[in-house]
Amino acid sequence: MLHVRIWGCRGSIPCPGASTAEFGGNTACLEIRADNKLAIVDMGTGIRPLGDWLVVHDLPKGPIDADIFVTHTHWDHIMGFPMFTPLFIPTTKLRIRGPVFYEDDTMESIISTLLSYRYWPVRLNELAAHIEYGEIKETGLDLGSGLRVGAKYLNHPALCLGYRFEYQGKSIVTAYDTEPFRNLFTSNPGDPGYDAAAAREGEAAAKEANEQFFHFIKHADVLIYDSMYTTDEYNAGKIGWGHSTYEYAVEVALLAGVRKLVLFHHDPNRTDAQLTVLESEYREKVRGKTGMEIIMAREGAVIEA
Ligand SMILES: [Zn+2]
Ligand SMILES: [Zn+2]
Repeated sequence: MLHVRIWGCRGSIPCPGASTAEFGGNTACLEIRADNKLAIVDMGTGIRPLGDWLVVHDLPKGPIDADIFVTHTHWDHIMGFPMFTPLFIPTTKLRIRGPVFYEDDTMESIISTLLSYRYWPVRLNELAAHIEYGEIKETGLDLGSGLRVGAKYLNHPALCLGYRFEYQGKSIVTAYDTEPFRNLFTSNPGDPGYDAAAAREGEAAAKEANEQFFHFIKHADVLIYDSMYTTDEYNAGKIGWGHSTYEYAVEVALLAGVRKLVLFHHDPNRTDAQLTVLESEYREKVRGKTGMEIIMAREGAVIEA
């Protein structure tokens, strides 16, 4: 059985409080289980309660052994790492992978910086767990026991990966901190920088990138997709910030034949009341037209592929 449990679904910064208690204020962290195999996507603040849960529920059965996939190293996706309790247990085995970084920084050096004295009292070499670090590219990876993970570069102001977990014919895809690819050149002949050839090329490149992305999410049983903004918010100055809209999430998931769409990476200012309204609004929009289920991500939710 393949399933995902959400430990953090908030974007940008943790936001605890009365108005976010229902959907949760922890930042990105997903626990993916393929029978006995454990994969974790992102190390936002949600990884702290996950770690505590693993110590209580997994450790009595044997050492904690997990593959951690970091989508990218923006704060909200790594800031929970120092508080992941299994790091301090000598039998823990972790393999942490992420995209190739700019300036040849390795995953190990980035995490090591995070654990330098100016930010945190514990050093990387003081962690008891056995940790391996690595990069992952679009070729993906075989994790053994029939679990495979594919990867795809997304459209974000940092090298950011989406992941596709495949197990026994079922799939869970993560694609957040991304927005549709668009033409980076002006297509308005009235603009001073207009170049017809560049505009055509830009259009073709964006179209191709969006088609590749579409192929990546196609027929996913579960798609966890970025829905940081409403369309009005997006159009009012958020284009190019690396996040998508509810509207686009639903549109692209429907086209791709997704079974369950999980709207993820909530804006920190979005209240429980607003998320509840948006969830029922979009469920209503697709009612009767498709079998696709729409789920507003909330902490603690378990979603089966
Ligand atoms: Zn983020
Ligand atoms: Zn980001």
